[in-house]
Amino acid sequence: MQDKPVALVTGANQGIGLQIAKDLATHGFTVLVGSRNLERGEAAAKEVGPDALAIQLDVTDQASIAAAAERIRKDFGRLDVLVNNAAISNTGMRPDMSFEEYVRLSRPSNVSLDEVRTIWETNVFGVLAVTQAMLPLLREAPAARIVNMSSSVGSLTLNSDPAGHYRAIFVPGYSASKTAVNAMTLAMAIELESTGIKVNAACPGYTKTNLNNYMGTKTVEEGAREPVRLALLGPDGPTGTFSNTEGVIPW
Ligand code: NAP
Repeated sequence: MQDKPVALVTGANQGIGLQIAKDLATHGFTVLVGSRNLERGEAAAKEVGPDALAIQLDVTDQASIAAAAERIRKDFGRLDVLVNNAAISNTGMRPDMSFEEYVRLSRPSNVSLDEVRTIWETNVFGVLAVTQAMLPLLREAPAARIVNMSSSVGSLTLNSDPAGHYRAIFVPGYSASKTAVNAMTLAMAIELESTGIKVNAACPGYTKTNLNNYMGTKTVEEGAREPVRLALLGPDGPTGTFSNTEGVIPW
């Protein structure tokens, strides 16, 4: 067992996850850079610096998740921070498709069930599966934190409002998967309330990454700010919340 706190970030080989890994390393963590492709994870870990290690982790593959948990148990004996960051926005958007056309094909009336299942497999069941596998290690840490990457586009409250900003893109695939991530966050927070393990959901804001073909308006540094804040919460910090850098977001 080492003294330095240990963090695992899923999907950390690029985008906001990579920036979260960099920020946690700066805050004194040994950071495990989760990547479904080990080589890309190794390249990212090199970019993070000497306090980072790549770990092969496909959040849809139970064997990969179990092997990652076993390695963390053997090498570190505990996990202080888990950031469930890995996600996909779609499987079917062709390069020649406009965003409007994609949204038109993503509505409840016509979306492909396979597409919804694939998105939820990564974004929802992946979060639950990784958390279940890592919980015994999180319980070994003195004050573990779980951060689930969510999005305002999943807020039922904001989308119920006829003036809601993201209402037109509230669809069963990506956006509803984030609603489910919010539900998972609350369920986990309720179960773990008495343990001191805090579980919160973060929205990074519309960030320029591969997820949105680099159309986002925020930098990854800005996008990483709220999840990193939640990863570093002290004993008085909240659990079971959903927030961005501006404050609490309604579920
Ligand atoms: P990104 O650059 O596309 O990064 C997503 C990461 O997830 C990649 O490393 C990707 O790996 C990984 N991933 C996908 N499927 C995986 C799997 N089955 N197993 C393991 N890793 C997997 O996207 P991002 O914008 O940084 O997204 C990070 C988080 O922020 C996501 O949860 C996203 O929903 C959330 N978010 C983003 C925005 C935004 O505007 N960008 C807004 C709200 C919320 P590969 O490189 O192998 O594909």
